Amino acid sequence: MSRHAAGYAPDSYALWYEYVRGGNPALRAELDQLVNACERLSHELTFELHQKHVSDHAEESVRKAGAGLLELMHTMRNSVEVASSEATEFDAQLAAFGEGISSAESPEDMRQHVDTMRSDVDRMNRSMSALTSRLETSHQEVTRLQSELKRAREEASLDPLSGILNRRGFDLELSRLCHAASEQGIAFSLVMVDIDFFKKINDTYGHPFGDQVIRAVGQALSQLTQRKDIAARYGGEEFALLLPETLAAGAREVADRVRAAIARGTIKRGGNEPAGNITISAGVAQYVRGEDPLSLIARADRALYASKQGGRNRVTLDG
Ligand code: GH3
Ligand code: MG
Ligand code: MG
Repeated sequence: MSRHAAGYAPDSYALWYEYVRGGNPALRAELDQLVNACERLSHELTFELHQKHVSDHAEESVRKAGAGLLELMHTMRNSVEVASSEATEFDAQLAAFGEGISSAESPEDMRQHVDTMRSDVDRMNRSMSALTSRLETSHQEVTRLQSELKRAREEASLDPLSGILNRRGFDLELSRLCHAASEQGIAFSLVMVDIDFFKKINDTYGHPFGDQVIRAVGQALSQLTQRKDIAARYGGEEFALLLPETLAAGAREVADRVRAAIARGTIKRGGNEPAGNITISAGVAQYVRGEDPLSLIARADRALYASKQGGRNRVTLDG
C-alpha cells in the first residue's frame, strides 16, 4: 500500500483491506495484475478501483439480490397464471361432464363420460402437484434471496475495519432519526468524535497499529453505549454517535464517559508493550426540529473543533 501514490488515504485503506480480507476475486485479480506489472497506482486509479470494487461491490450485491427476487416473482406469477387457466379449462370440462351424464343414453355412453372425466381429473391433479412443487421451490428461493438481500444491505452499511456502521449506514440512520424528530418530535443528539494526534500514532507505531487503534475506538464507542445508540465510523479516524431520545446534556455525559474510558485504557502493541495514551476529542449537538441534517453535523463539528482548540481529550457542547 505504501508503495503507491494514494498511500494511506482512506480509500486506499479500504481497497487494500478488502484485498487482504479476500472474498472479492475481481478486485484481487485486477490489483495483482497491476502490481505484477510494477505499476505505481495513482490517486485516481486507487479511487476508481475503490469505486468499482469496494463501494460498488456492496451496492452491486444489494442490486443483484433485489433483481433475483423480482425475477422470481415473475416466474411465480407465470406458474400461477398457467395453473389458473388450467383450472378454468377444468371447470369447463366439469360442466361438460355434468351435461354429458345427464343426457347419457346408455351405460356405455355413461362409462365413456366417466372415463373422460377420470383422465381430466388425473391431468388436473398432475398439474396441481407440479404447481405446488414449483411454489415450494420458489418459496425456498425467496427465503434464500431475502436473507441474501438483508446480508448484502447490512454489509453495504458496515465498515470492514471497525465492524461498526460506515458513512453510508450513518447517513441512513441520521435521516431516519431526523424524520422521527420531525414527525413525532423525538429528540436526539449527535456526537462527532476524532482521535487526537492520530498522525503521530501512525508515524510512531506504524499504520497497522493505527488500524488497531481505529478498531479499538470503534468497538469502545459501540460497547460503552446503549443498544439503541448508534456508533459509526464517519471516515478516516473520525467517528459519530447518534443518541436517540437523548438531550444535549445527556449526550455530553455519554460522550464524556466514553472519552474517559478510552483515555484510561491502554492498547497493547505486538510485543505487548502498551502504546502511549490514546485520547479522543468530541463535539455534541442536539437536533433542532426541522433542521437540515448537514447543519446538525456542522454544529457538532464546530464543537469538536473547539475541543481540539481547548487542548484535546475533552468534550464540548455546541452553543
Ligand atoms: P488532531 O488531534 O488534530 O485530530 O490530529 P490528527 O493527527 O489526528 O489529525 P489529522 O486529521 O490531520 O490526521 C489524521 C490522519 O489519520 C491522517 C491519515 O493519514 C490517517 N488515517 C486516516 N484514515 C486512516 C486509517 O484508516 N488507518 C490509519 N492507520 N490511518 C488513517
Ligand atoms: Mg481528523
Ligand atoms: Mg485526529
